[in-house]
Amino acid sequence: MSTDSQAKFPPSVILPIIIFILLASLVIYLFLENSEKEQRITNLETEKLNTQRDLVNTTNTLLKEREQASSTINELAGRLSLTSEELADIEKDFEREKEKNEEFEKQIRKISGTVNNLDKLSKTDKELLQKYSRTYFLNENFIPMKLKKIDNQYVMPDKTDLYFHGNAVGFLEEMLDDAKEAGFDIRIISAYRSFDEQADLKGQYTQIYGSGSNAFSADQGYSEHQLGTTVDIVDMETRTTSQSFGQTEAFKWLEDNAYRYGFVLSYPENNEFYIYEPWHWRFVGVDLARDLHRADAQFYEWDQRKIDEYLIKIFD
Ligand SMILES: [Zn+2]
Repeated sequence: MSTDSQAKFPPSVILPIIIFILLASLVIYLFLENSEKEQRITNLETEKLNTQRDLVNTTNTLLKEREQASSTINELAGRLSLTSEELADIEKDFEREKEKNEEFEKQIRKISGTVNNLDKLSKTDKELLQKYSRTYFLNENFIPMKLKKIDNQYVMPDKTDLYFHGNAVGFLEEMLDDAKEAGFDIRIISAYRSFDEQADLKGQYTQIYGSGSNAFSADQGYSEHQLGTTVDIVDMETRTTSQSFGQTEAFKWLEDNAYRYGFVLSYPENNEFYIYEPWHWRFVGVDLARDLHRADAQFYEWDQRKIDEYLIKIFD
């Protein structure tokens, strides 16, 4: 049969067939090759699309994250500014509270100061800085709040049991100590006298001198001695209440120094209230005595209201 077939296709036909087959194979090969390339391109394109999609996703995610982050930052910044605002408010409140407390403390100090002063005044006889005269006199029932016996070393040897105001006796004894140190032996011959003692004394004087006794012995109750803050002082030579004591060096020392211990001479020479009594010294407190000394003034010359201001510190 093959011989027949061979016989049917002459060589002039075979060559074109071979060429055709070769060409067809080439076409097929090229087609396959091409389709493979196309497949790869498609794959690459798919891959590119995927990558692009991934990129978009990632970009979106990043944008979203950035947005979130920035909103978080904004939120935090907001909170922070709120916090510093609140902090400023708290600080202001704190300052106000502090000021209130300080004001409160000030008021408490002021009130307690007032209470102290009132307490001090309530424990201080207002009579101690009164000016007494024939028309204004001390109540016969007045007795000082505190009386203390004066140590006998300060008292004239023949006198005993002399009493002085308990809050002022220290000033008196200090004054006599310093006088002694300066060379002046001065002694107390009279101190606190009750109304009755004063009445007795006046009676004795009246018996001896008649009505003329008014000139040198205060009437009953007028006497500053009833206050407990007044003493009669003389030196060991004079030994009695006499105006000649005013000529002594001891008196000069008292005149120059007694104010430092709170004492003033109630009735100086040529005063318009009473006879000259160089021996009669009254305790009015260091502040008042010093201010009177500086003003070269007498206790009885000053206005009572002005004197009253010193009562609170009479024993300071
Ligand atoms: Zn006197």
